[in-house]
Amino acid sequence: MTPIRKLDDSRSNGARVADVRKRYLEFFEKRGHAVIPSAPIVPENDPTTLFTSSGMQPLVPYLLGEPHPEGTRLADSQMSFRAEDIEEVGDNRHTTFFEMLGNWSLGDYFKQEQLPWFFDYMTSTEEGLGLNPEHLYVTVFAGDEESGMAADSESVEIWKKLFGDKGIEAKFVELGTEERGNELGMQGGRIFSYGAKKNWWSRAGVPAKMPAGEIGGPDSEVFYDFGLPHDPKFGKECHPNCDCGRFIEIGNSVFMQYQKQEDSSFKELPKRNVDFGGGLERLAAAVRGDADIFMIDVFDAARAVLEERSGKQYGDADATRSFRIILDHMRAASFFISSGIRPGNSEQGYVLRRLIRRSIREADKLGIKDAVLAEVAEGFGAAYADAYPFVQAAAETIREELEKEEVQFRKTLVHGMKELEKMGGAIDAFMLFTTYGFPVELTEEIAKERGIALDMSAVQEKMETHKNLSREGAAQKFAGGLADHAEQTVRYHTAHHLLLKALQVVLGPDVHQRGSNITSERLRIDFSYGQKMTDEQKREVERIVNEKIAEAIPVVRTDMKKEEAEKLGAEHEFGATYPETVSVYSVGPLDSAFSIEFCGGPHVANTSELGEGGKHFKILKEEASSAGIRRIKAVLE
Ligand code: ATP
Ligand code: MG
Repeated sequence: MTPIRKLDDSRSNGARVADVRKRYLEFFEKRGHAVIPSAPIVPENDPTTLFTSSGMQPLVPYLLGEPHPEGTRLADSQMSFRAEDIEEVGDNRHTTFFEMLGNWSLGDYFKQEQLPWFFDYMTSTEEGLGLNPEHLYVTVFAGDEESGMAADSESVEIWKKLFGDKGIEAKFVELGTEERGNELGMQGGRIFSYGAKKNWWSRAGVPAKMPAGEIGGPDSEVFYDFGLPHDPKFGKECHPNCDCGRFIEIGNSVFMQYQKQEDSSFKELPKRNVDFGGGLERLAAAVRGDADIFMIDVFDAARAVLEERSGKQYGDADATRSFRIILDHMRAASFFISSGIRPGNSEQGYVLRRLIRRSIREADKLGIKDAVLAEVAEGFGAAYADAYPFVQAAAETIREELEKEEVQFRKTLVHGMKELEKMGGAIDAFMLFTTYGFPVELTEEIAKERGIALDMSAVQEKMETHKNLSREGAAQKFAGGLADHAEQTVRYHTAHHLLLKALQVVLGPDVHQRGSNITSERLRIDFSYGQKMTDEQKREVERIVNEKIAEAIPVVRTDMKKEEAEKLGAEHEFGATYPETVSVYSVGPLDSAFSIEFCGGPHVANTSELGEGGKHFKILKEEASSAGIRRIKAVLE
């Protein structure tokens, strides 16, 4: 096993997050960079993504050639949110919300300046963080056979010199892949090369995947060695890209250097860019010499509240994960609410709601039975008073929103418990979850306590299907249009509701559904109507459906008594029989809905999702199905 390096940093500066940020911006300002403010956490004028998730994202137009008003050297600290990291939260280094330190060269400096600057920022005692260079390990691009792209030997030479100047002989080790790293380990190396999967950047992925005209280039990453023992669960040997937690990636310099040509060769760009992104919290953790990013100062107040309210210590084996999730989620929630997001059923609001509800579940696990979230969030305003004063300014709103949502969800929990009691020995965990939002893990725990065996594999299977189909989270947004079949089917399901209502508007209230069939390719509806539709009627139906898509109306699920739904005039789903309590889906809030149907779902969270990628609703065919029944086939294209 690799020997464990002893931590001996006594030269550290700026253990507070605010100091690490300030030193960074001053360091790069001194080197000719214009310091620009963080872009908002919700991107402006970009309906395709829910959140800003890196420093690069708001600067893409400038990296693609548009001149930036502040010049060719930029630096910032960017608020970032990665919904796709939500399941990682609980380990020692991932949070959903974090700040990404960035510096950019827009056709200005290149590797020779970027790598030494970042190295100096990390190691300089005067101007930087004073990190011990012994703890730093770097990776570079190994080259790529598939595309013939050469290895980044320039960066290797630069790193060798930088470490050499500190009296460290930096051995270069070619690993190529993570698998080889797991097999071969460190081999006394300091600079490691990996292939295109790890150390190549382009918007399209590895070089071979890039279309002609696309730009890309190698990147070089810096890892901090926290000296933890290697956990063999993650591979036989440890190496910088190992996930065991000993090495943590603290920064990544991307060198946008090449453009792919029609003949698949690569040409050096006349104007080369640098994009650097570094994890502020992770750098602060490195300064503290503690691999746990949840121990940095901005979490101190919140951690203390949780310890007091739960009677547990952060660090207790069974509590750490719950602590981390709540700390992360409540910081993110504070930034969200102070940025104008409110808990809701779609888009950013849904993500916020999910963060809050997950936190309540974790608080519950910690044994905290009364509302606690507002109190946990209270300290973030002060922690960010210097850089993001809007958080503190919104303190009152943050408290109110969190209290409201927590009280409501805790009621749901109580309600779910009551239903669960009624079920006796036959507990339907899936129904409790889908109908009451009652967490399955909780049902499982309670059944266990009472000696009732749940068929968890059956529940899991249903949950998987449900998860795949439902609008949980924002994952589909990040997939950037790579909608899978399930998602497309869900869109058609919602389009089906819009279509039925539009038919009633155009042809009259006697139109009802008589059959339906939905695939990921198209939707089909059979409905009661005695005549062939005119072209005008078809165009009008299309127009109405497309109008509702453009209006971006939330699609809301409400559970209620059957009679109540009937009173509301909810449209029956064809061929279904209903229990006493039903769920109805309405396009728009119940009291002003465009359409209301008895329906089990799933549906998109917002009608705008049907129009993603510039799609429109179109009737392909209208024909007779049987006596008095017409059939329409329609698509979104
Ligand atoms: P990782 O492999 O650790 O998830 P990444 O490859 O996703 O990191 P980048 O996309 O290169 O990271 O982002 C630049 C920097 O931002 C990283 O070097 C890291 O320091 C920081 N960073 C990325 N994701 C997170 C996160 N979820 N929480 C905290 N910091 C992060
Ligand atoms: Mg990541």
